[in-house]
Order: sequence, then C-alpha cells, then structure tokens
Amino acid sequence: MEKLIKQAATDLANSKRLVALTGAGISVESNIPPFRGKGGVWERFDPMEYAHIDAFMKNPKKVWDVLLREMKGIIDIAKPNDAHLGLVRLERLGLLKTIITQNVDGLHQKAGSTDVIEFHGTFARHRCLDCGKPKNTEDILLTVIPPTCECGGIYRPEIIFFGEMIPPEHLLRSQQISSACDVMLVMGTSAVVQPASMMPVIAKENGAKVIEINPERTPLTETVSDYLIQGKAGEKMNRIMVELEQLL
Ligand code: NAD
Ligand code: ZN
Repeated sequence: MEKLIKQAATDLANSKRLVALTGAGISVESNIPPFRGKGGVWERFDPMEYAHIDAFMKNPKKVWDVLLREMKGIIDIAKPNDAHLGLVRLERLGLLKTIITQNVDGLHQKAGSTDVIEFHGTFARHRCLDCGKPKNTEDILLTVIPPTCECGGIYRPEIIFFGEMIPPEHLLRSQQISSACDVMLVMGTSAVVQPASMMPVIAKENGAKVIEINPERTPLTETVSDYLIQGKAGEKMNRIMVELEQLL
C-alpha cells in the first residue's frame, strides 16, 4: 500500500492534464451515505419508487416525505472532508483543473474547487415545477411537505432523477476532458452508473493512467484502472498529499 501511495503522488505530480472523477463514496466521510454498498440508501429505499422522475411527478409528496426531506437534512449540514480538500490543494498547485462529479451535495464547491461538472445535477438549488423560479436549497423550509413556491407550484431539486437526461453540455464536456487527460483520479464511485462510468474507459482508451481510490473493488479494478488504492478517500488522499508535497 505504501508503494501505491508513493506511486500515486508521483503520477499526480508528473501529470500535465489531470482530471478527477468522484462519486458518492468521496462524501461518506462527510456523513453522507452512498447509494450502493454497506449502509447505502438503496438498502432501505427502492430507487424506482423514490428516485425516478415518474415517481416524483406522480407523487411529489411521497418522494419529498421520504427521500428528499432526509437528503436535505443530511446535505444542509455536511462539511467537506480531506478528500474534497485534497482536490482543492491539487487545483491550487496548478495540477488539477476540472472535477467531474456524480455527486449532488455541492461539497466540492463548498471546499473551494472552482471547476466542477455536476454530472447528475445539484441539490443546492431547487426550481418550481410551475413557474420555473429557482431557489437555494438552504432557503427552502420544510414547514409544509412538499415545499411550494409563491405561485403554488411544487419545488423539485435540480438533480437528475432516474429517467431524466444528463444535460448534453455536461456529457459532452466530460467526454472531451476525459479523452484529453493524461491521468484520471477516480474516487468513491462504484462505476456502475452509466454514462459516468464510461469516463475512465474513455480516458484509458486515450492513453491516460487511471488511479482508483475505493475501499472496495469495482468493475474498473484491474480492467480499466492501473491500480486501486484500497481505503477511504479522505484518509488515502491525505497520505498521497503528504508525499506529493515533498516531491514539489
Ligand atoms: P455509489 O453509491 O454507487 O457507490 C459508492 C462507492 O463509494 C462504492 O464503490 C463504495 O465502495 C465507495 N465508498 C464507500 N465509502 C467510501 C470512502 N470512504 N471513500 C471512498 N469510497 C468509498 O455511488 P456512485 O458511483 O457515485 O453512483 C451513484 C449515484 O448516487 C450517483 O449518481 C450520485 O448522483 C448519487 N449519490 C450522490 C450522493 C452525494 O451527492 N453525496 C450520495 C448518494 C448517491
Ligand atoms: Zn412558482
């Protein structure tokens, strides 16, 4: 493991076009549960019943009552952890420009990263289903469920529900960046949600080195990724950054 930490520090320090791809696992140390795996949200809820756009449109109250109310409670108070902060440090060192994230929690921006492609949208903002007016999530009060706009319309988060399209501009830019990078750092994703999980494949096909940090193996491990640093994103990122700072 020590050898891989040093290897990652060297690969990151030598990279010219580094990109990071992050998933729910990077926010686990910020107390946001992932969807899959141990303690995952899908152990308790059926995604088709709560996270599909059709389910939301059919019964917004039910989805707000169960899933969205809980998400808001957790995300409202979450703070970035060492993995988010490590990526900010990489940006400030001039090594990292863009993060492609599948997360909707806004923690990369809260940490200070400035160029974040939110592949699956954001929970930081909502908009009214009727008049389209946006509202910051922190200003949404859950005194009434579902929360409503002054016009009477129901608020929805600006996340991409299952059954909705990834914004084409996000998809296109992610594909371009993935095909042009020389190192991709993949943290905390189970790499099973398409098309986000194609980004490391695109990177690899174009000659990039792919580094994974995850406590578990994923479909990328040893097929697409060059190596897996097995463990928690925050802990491992801290150790990599200590090594990397000595190389600069
Ligand atoms: P996922 O839930 O499918 O998988 C989480 C992955 O993180 C697993 O591979 C797990 O082994 C790993 N993991 C667990 N703890 C970790 C840690 N401490 N450090 C590093 N890795 C850890 O997540 P996904 O691949 O991002 O895909 C699921 C979808 O879930 C995404 O589209 C995302 O929008 C959504 N989601 C987002 C959040 C969030 O915004 N924080 C939370 C839950 C789900
Ligand atoms: Zn409205």
